[in-house]
Amino acid sequence: MLDPHQQAVKQLEQVANLLESDYPDKDRFWAAIKKLKEPDQVLMTELEIKTKSGKKKFKAFRSQHDNARGPYKGGIRFHPHVSEAEVKALSTWMTWKCAVTGIPYGGGKGGIIVNPKELSEAELQALSRAYARWLGDQIGPWQDIPAPDVNTNGQIMAWMVDEWQQTYLKNHGFLTENALATFTGKPLALGGSQGREEATGLGGVYALEKLAEKQGWSRKQDITVAIQGFGNVGYWFAYHADKLGYKVVAVSDSRGGVYLAEGLDPVKTLECKRQTGQVGQCHCTVEGCNNRSGKVITNEELLELKVDVLVPAALESVITQENAAKIQAKFIIEMANGPVTPTADEILLENGITVIPDILANAGGVTVSYFEWVQNLAGYYWPYEEVLAKLKPLMDEAFDQMWHIKKEHDVSAREATYMSAVKKVVDALMLRGKV
Ligand code: NAD
Repeated sequence: MLDPHQQAVKQLEQVANLLESDYPDKDRFWAAIKKLKEPDQVLMTELEIKTKSGKKKFKAFRSQHDNARGPYKGGIRFHPHVSEAEVKALSTWMTWKCAVTGIPYGGGKGGIIVNPKELSEAELQALSRAYARWLGDQIGPWQDIPAPDVNTNGQIMAWMVDEWQQTYLKNHGFLTENALATFTGKPLALGGSQGREEATGLGGVYALEKLAEKQGWSRKQDITVAIQGFGNVGYWFAYHADKLGYKVVAVSDSRGGVYLAEGLDPVKTLECKRQTGQVGQCHCTVEGCNNRSGKVITNEELLELKVDVLVPAALESVITQENAAKIQAKFIIEMANGPVTPTADEILLENGITVIPDILANAGGVTVSYFEWVQNLAGYYWPYEEVLAKLKPLMDEAFDQMWHIKKEHDVSAREATYMSAVKKVVDALMLRGKV
């Protein structure tokens, strides 16, 4: 069994074989691929904080994969399963994700081995501050720009901004005007961007719109969509898909889901979820709630529904070799990170199912993080509509590039997306004369 970083390396090797013919100078090309197999730098330490039960140490990481296209960019996760191999792999995937939509960043990722639910708020704050203090001059708006990830949020970014600013003052003897631009995913009251909350879901719907265009779907109301996960990403995907006229027939959360053949109303379903605690108890039609015509389904049943588009928007590895053959959707838009395992991917491909991969489908989030950074550096903030309007052309262009490569090389959407991304990074390394 390969660890996540070995998987990322294997994936890069496969893409490299597809790209090789584009490069007359094979030696330089393979030197670039060799360089991209390992991060530029992996920082590791043990952070010590005082807790109720005495002093405790937590292992912390920051992996900076490649900065040929711009500063390293990527989240910080707080989770007991964080490991060196995981942050290395995630930072590699961030390099590709940033390249997909053409935002001027490379990839980074950080994490702390901790179960944040076992910490008090004061301890969580102390640990977040210790992490920002430790990174010090290793991060910055032109160096490496962290963001929230699993179990971290806007509040944690706010503590980190504050600590990093003080650390900068201590190290350099003067304040930097760029502290806000060193972290993204910040609360609106502290330099966050309008539209960030819904950006990932909306970006996925822009990918759906492109898919509809390529497939020549003229009647959106006939296109059925099932969404696993009704959190941030799943809800906003459902909301915007419904608003644009697609028929969202099923949604689910960790406790189960609901199916309604004529299409459900995402806003009312969310209201219902808030009241009852689970979407499986909701039977909302566009006419209103409490119309008990919906059918309660399990998460497994949702994945196997006969729909046009299946959207896994909850967890990784939910479509595996066990259930891949049972998937009846014609298209899968990966909104979660890594919802389809590599073996399942092969089965889906054999069955003619097109998978729009995560690094393209969910890139709307990091793209609006880039907008946040631009706004912080400029000290000028855009209204909500402007943020959303700026997201669409970047998602559209990324999709078109992928589709063009897919047709030209007769490869899968996943292979085409990776080819598009890796090519941009290799070209940047060559232009800089790094290889
Ligand atoms: P979230 O915590 O807001 O929502 C997760 C949803 O998944 C919840 O509705 C939860 O009930 C549901 N869920 C949990 N376990 C489940 C299970 N076993 N079966 C079905 N549903 C289950 O998280 P989110 O921010 O919406 O992120 C969802 C996914 O998208 C993650 O894989 C995340 O890494 C990825 N992602 C998120 C963003 C972002 O901007 N939030 C960006 C890129 C990728």
